[in-house]
Amino acid sequence: MNINILGIESTCDETGIAVVKNGTKVLANELATSISKFVKYGGIVPEIAAREQLKVIIPTLDSVSRKVPEDKIDAIAVSYGPGLIGSLLVGVETAKTLSLAWQKPLIPVNHLTAHIYANWLETKNAPEFPLVGLVVSGGHTDLVYMQKHGDFKLIGSTLDDAVGEAFDKVARFLGLPYPGGPHIEKAARNYKNNREQNPFPITMSGKENLEFSFSGIKTAVVRYVEVNKLRLSDKDIAKVAFYFEEAVVESIAARVKRALGIYKPRSLAIGGGVAANLKLRNKLGELCVDLQVRVHFPKIEFSVDNGAMIASAAYFVGKPDDPLTVQADSSLHFT
Ligand code: AMP
Ligand code: MG
Repeated sequence: MNINILGIESTCDETGIAVVKNGTKVLANELATSISKFVKYGGIVPEIAAREQLKVIIPTLDSVSRKVPEDKIDAIAVSYGPGLIGSLLVGVETAKTLSLAWQKPLIPVNHLTAHIYANWLETKNAPEFPLVGLVVSGGHTDLVYMQKHGDFKLIGSTLDDAVGEAFDKVARFLGLPYPGGPHIEKAARNYKNNREQNPFPITMSGKENLEFSFSGIKTAVVRYVEVNKLRLSDKDIAKVAFYFEEAVVESIAARVKRALGIYKPRSLAIGGGVAANLKLRNKLGELCVDLQVRVHFPKIEFSVDNGAMIASAAYFVGKPDDPLTVQADSSLHFT
């Protein structure tokens, strides 16, 4: 029997609505983003993000409904957190209303769990259990171990900044636009000089745990620019971006290598906005070849926040009877 789930994502500045068949086949996928509104602020302004959600959610739903009508939908899924409270409420109230009006079950979905489940979308090569999941996003850096669907053991997390946050803050310091990750990646590609020793620390290397830390790299960047009296020419920016990106990627890879050594999974499944980073993809790909672990990255459109991953997670681990309470708190991990 086929099950079509309509998934709604509205945790931050993206409004994503999609319909997914059996957790894997994307029948419709619409995304509106208000990210351009935040370039001048250098970061998200929650109040503006929530107002933009309000503006676009119905048009986004309309576009999806034109592709997949109501009578083809079996359940409504929505991300209940973690995220920004104002943004979350827009998606959650829309989902509740649809569920009531259409008389379809309502399935609450944890946003971080959904980032892992993005790896089941539109692929012939879905992850296999046991797996280690890595979520690298603007708000989280988490390692999770799963022996089966719905079984989450948080095994590592960041002690300070999330990795995407570090990209965004360093980019801002270098005068690059928000969101910083893609701009740092682009600037780093212009570094043409001979390789030197990386001036920035590979944080947490050699530590016996699976925790991450990125604030030390960020501080080292600021100090490096000050001590060397850099005027942040394009050449300076390229060099700093190159070594910062490399330090971050090496730091993540070392933690992941340790997790793979301890848990010996069949798959490594990566999700979140930073999973778009090519250096990270290549480094973790090489690591998995060496350790004979299958590596999974979602397609780029499913790495960013989107409704399809919410529908996929709902299909595999959703419980329609769970109470739908909004949990904005960023200390919420996988459930
Ligand atoms: P999310 O929180 O999952 O929506 O992801 C957004 C975060 O991903 C932001 O902090 C971005 O700077 C970061 N990001 C997006 N693309 C890249 C990239 N190519 N390299 C590094 N970070 C990225
Ligand atoms: Mg996200």
